Amino acid sequence: MTNIMMASGLAGFLLAFQADLFVPVSGPADAAPAYSDIVAALGQDIRELEIGSTLRGNANAGTRLLVPEKCEKEGEAEAYNYALSGDVEEAFLFIPGLCLWIEIGYDKTRDRVRLDSDFISAVLNQYTSSMIYHVHPRGMESLEENLPSFADFITLALINATRMWNPDFDIKHRIVTRLGVAEYEFADREKAKSLLEYYRKTGLEDFEAQNLAYEYMRPQYRRSYSSEVERCKEYRGSIQQKLAGCSPIRTEAFIVTFRSLAPAHE
Ligand SMILES: [Zn+2]
Repeated sequence: MTNIMMASGLAGFLLAFQADLFVPVSGPADAAPAYSDIVAALGQDIRELEIGSTLRGNANAGTRLLVPEKCEKEGEAEAYNYALSGDVEEAFLFIPGLCLWIEIGYDKTRDRVRLDSDFISAVLNQYTSSMIYHVHPRGMESLEENLPSFADFITLALINATRMWNPDFDIKHRIVTRLGVAEYEFADREKAKSLLEYYRKTGLEDFEAQNLAYEYMRPQYRRSYSSEVERCKEYRGSIQQKLAGCSPIRTEAFIVTFRSLAPAHE
């Protein structure tokens, strides 16, 4: 589960979304000139850059792990290794054009990772074609735990909402678990766009992302996802086989496509 913010009501929602503005901190001028030249947000980052050669967990909230020169397949394989061995959720932003992985989580627990929303926004403004991954740690045995949670869909809505007007926009959301990779997206982008259009017409443009998220938090969407997940359980075999069998999981609001990475006997 990813949380851009935890909120119990709309007021909390709006506050949390707007509260963590960038605080530019001037670190050593030569901290990592190459990477902050390529990814501008790194130049203003309050976390100290740590260059790694492998995707792994990072328990230090003061540093940001950056794994360069690693393209999609190789990075996913390492995220998958983390899913087999890690103790808490992790999250990464992957920029395919650069083959660059940037850690984007904090406050990590076994079943949650919060996302650095302002940092992510800044990167996505520069790289409209990116992928946001989160990794569920080991011990996630159930079918549900190998799929995005409903909160993950809400995070997707919040991140994608303000960018749907850009024709170059291509932000994918994926979760890596001990069994494989699940990608999730809006089932109907046009519907999401027409909702956003409606918010704009009614003067709610500044809060369009929050309003879209609220729309998709309706119980009907949650219920239809739960019932589709239940339907997956009716497929024969292991959890992996059930997921492979029922993928793509399609509801009115979201689609989840599962791809296996684990050996078939899992
Ligand atoms: Zn999750």
